[in-house]
Amino acid sequence: MKEDSAQKKLLDALSFEVRSAWDRLGSEQLHQVFSFAEDYKAFLTQAKTEREANHYILTKAEKQGFVPAEKLSGKLRPGTKLYFGNRGRSSALVVIGQKPIVDGFRLVGSHIDSPRLDLKARPLYEEDGLVLFKTQYYGGIKKYQWPVQPLALHGIVVLTNGERINLCLGEEPGDPVFCVTDLLPHLAYEQMDKKAKDVVTGEALNIVVGNLPYLEDLDVKERVKLNILRLLHDTYGIKEEDLVSADIAAVPAGAARDVGFDRSLIGAYGQDDRVCAYASLQGFMDIAVPELTAICLFADREEVGSMGNTGARSRFLENVVAELVSREEIGSTDLGVRRALAKGEALSADVNAALDPSYAEVSDKRNSARLGYGINLTKYTGGRGKGGASEASAEFMAKIRQLLNAHSIPWQPGDLGKVDEGGGGTIAQFLADLGMDVLDAGVPILSMHSPFELASKVDVYAAYRAYKVFWDPEK
Ligand code: MN
Ligand code: MN
Repeated sequence: MKEDSAQKKLLDALSFEVRSAWDRLGSEQLHQVFSFAEDYKAFLTQAKTEREANHYILTKAEKQGFVPAEKLSGKLRPGTKLYFGNRGRSSALVVIGQKPIVDGFRLVGSHIDSPRLDLKARPLYEEDGLVLFKTQYYGGIKKYQWPVQPLALHGIVVLTNGERINLCLGEEPGDPVFCVTDLLPHLAYEQMDKKAKDVVTGEALNIVVGNLPYLEDLDVKERVKLNILRLLHDTYGIKEEDLVSADIAAVPAGAARDVGFDRSLIGAYGQDDRVCAYASLQGFMDIAVPELTAICLFADREEVGSMGNTGARSRFLENVVAELVSREEIGSTDLGVRRALAKGEALSADVNAALDPSYAEVSDKRNSARLGYGINLTKYTGGRGKGGASEASAEFMAKIRQLLNAHSIPWQPGDLGKVDEGGGGTIAQFLADLGMDVLDAGVPILSMHSPFELASKVDVYAAYRAYKVFWDPEK
């Protein structure tokens, strides 16, 4: 008996076991986990594009006292809250720290774009009595997941005079929705023999938008299309050519939902990566005056490689740091920017795949995150021989592990699938390119990149707490 307990003590002292994050909650915290999820679901329901997410973020930040950087002049005092917007599609929030920024800063960076169907430049056409929109998918989707489900249209049309027309149709209870069709099983013998990637082709992802002909004149050609054009003009004041200068996406319609009898999970479109965006935003709102300047970055274009002037590969972040350096007494120098970046520490806040019991064969069970076990720390991304990997150093990993342990925040190590199974990346590599120490830290997800992604409420809350203490360890 005595021996057993000595062995158990030794086991507890030496072995590493990840405990369920649910088991680590007190009743007060359990309540917080669920109430945090309510606001998170509301965010997911109303922010389905990077523009909508960015608008939500900046509106919230302004309410909490963040001021546009261009409105502040002179030296920035510790505790000053400011933000940098980038074309309505990405942004950076900043809280000035007690130490000068050349001593470093702490950044949490997520992305606010998600896979979707974008309208082509000339989307509208009529065929066989139907009017449809041509689309091009954005990001890595399994194309067969998108037909036969209600879609909403979100986006903007910009007229030649610069006027912006907002469009959001398919979300309110009385709204019409849109959809991509699929073949009936009776005629799908050939389709069912195809490889999954060919079952639905990119050019078949056409969205049904109408069937009612223009009734006032039976002689005109393409009467259904004409009727849709008339409706678009009457409702939005737009003509067919205006669709050339539009960013309109079709996304899964409807609200984020609780999943499970116990309501422990959240099912919704776009949790990659708006779950980390939301958790970091909430964490950022709760920090006081940090020792080091804190930055909360929201990037666009991650799902297509982070290119473009709103993506993480752009100069946006460097420009933000340059602006901050320029406000310090030591003055504005290129060297100051480089020093700040080289001392910067970052969490790349992005989701990673959780172990799916129905598809366990693609994962190394011992090195996969599981839903409900806390924020997932991914030391390196990339597949096979770590090709294209961003890898956190042992030193930085240790620092974050220590921080989370000290605050009793549940975390788990987890990689993306088996070594030779595939792979993926985040914005971590682009932050590392600038000189920062970076670690991927985010919420584990099931059904990633699908129209209905699954996350555990306890992991979302763990991420929120982790980001908050990373910026402000005293909190
Ligand atoms: Mn992501
Ligand atoms: Mn993704």
